[in-house]
Amino acid sequence: MRVELVTVGDELLLGDTVNGNAAWMGQRLAEHGLEVTRSVVVGDELDVIVEAVREALGRADAVITTGGLGPTYDDVTRDALAAAAGVKLVRDPGLERRLRERVAAAGRELQPMALRMADVPEGAGILLNSAGSAAGLRVELPGGVVYALPGVPFEMRTMIEEVVLPELAGENRAARRTLRTAGLWESVVATKLAPVEAMDRIKLAYLPDPAEVKIRITATGPDPAARLDEAERTARDLLGDAVYGAGDQTLDRVVHGLLAERSATVATAESLTGGLIGAELTRMPGSSATYAGGMVAYATALKKELLGVPAPLLDEHGAVHPDVAAAMATGVRERLGATYGVAVTGVAGPEAQDGREVGTIFVGVATPTGNPRVIRPLLPVPGVGAEIRGVIRRMTVVHALEQLRRVILGLGEGPGATPEG
Ligand code: ATP
Ligand code: MG
Repeated sequence: MRVELVTVGDELLLGDTVNGNAAWMGQRLAEHGLEVTRSVVVGDELDVIVEAVREALGRADAVITTGGLGPTYDDVTRDALAAAAGVKLVRDPGLERRLRERVAAAGRELQPMALRMADVPEGAGILLNSAGSAAGLRVELPGGVVYALPGVPFEMRTMIEEVVLPELAGENRAARRTLRTAGLWESVVATKLAPVEAMDRIKLAYLPDPAEVKIRITATGPDPAARLDEAERTARDLLGDAVYGAGDQTLDRVVHGLLAERSATVATAESLTGGLIGAELTRMPGSSATYAGGMVAYATALKKELLGVPAPLLDEHGAVHPDVAAAMATGVRERLGATYGVAVTGVAGPEAQDGREVGTIFVGVATPTGNPRVIRPLLPVPGVGAEIRGVIRRMTVVHALEQLRRVILGLGEGPGATPEG
């Protein structure tokens, strides 16, 4: 089912009103497996509305308009729909009675202009508005159905929920689930998932965040739940241990869960992230059970004094080095008495540092036994200017948590990073 949106109003074109209706409808319809294929904005102009609706129905099965159903003469959506259908506007007695009652109940007098809201294109269905005066309309045209809804967001939402979604989405509600990966590039994920993409009535959407890709799988058609399960199984097979969670299982939540299950704790030693990893690990209520604490050792001297990183190492290589990440991880693990130590050092930019390029990052994870693991995340070439720092710092947080997860689970470095040191 393909749906197009036509949002009506000069105020939208002029930028006085942000088109929240289109955003909300796009989201809500997609949640029900309805594909919104185009969304246009038009002014309060009869001919333009007629043309937009006709064109939209030439492509889509259904069109939803919002706005222009009020009583004033600049509200012309109902006139436009009558013109598009080639019928007259007729006054609906039921709507007229309702309008008179509403006005009387408010102790006011009916303005003749208000009666326009009782006019409907001949043969149109009336969608009663429990939230306001202007009724919505359902007009069946040769190319498909048009729902005309009021512009007032609350009224529009009520009609979408009560009428449009039940009629358009009906039994065949889409089933959807989101898988979450860390460390992989979007293009890598998409390439791996080509076989899922090819499955019948399965759609994939990639939602990238710095160093993370969420994959939303949507199944439509008959028995969507079972087909979604099958698509999810296939996707998990193809992505392997890069999938760290599903739905609202964020990386910090997953790591917290893994640590809690093992009665283990983690301590953090941060340089370029300035405490962001600690902030992430304390997002969950109850994180005191799994997060010991952290040190932000930003100045090179503090890496030595607080964390015990050997001075010759710092003198010889500077702070951005795999052995420094290892020593920071070991130092913080021991000094804070945690099961695991996680450390990051690197260049957030925008300038290079110690002869290292922007985006050179080392993540160390120290464990109760054996040497710390050190990896260098494969970061995409970042954008430009001031944004670089924010993106690199966020990507570093994700890679640090992901590497901790992998170490706890006994997994290798993963495809998003190379082993170092
Ligand atoms: P009414 O019965 O209130 O006259 P209407 O169908 O004529 O409704 P409009 O006059 O177009 O609707 O819009 C009413 C109000 O709803 C606008 O002032 C605006 O604040 C809001 N609105 C209209 N369209 C949108 C939109 N696309 N996104 C967000 N808000 C909107
Ligand atoms: Mg209006």
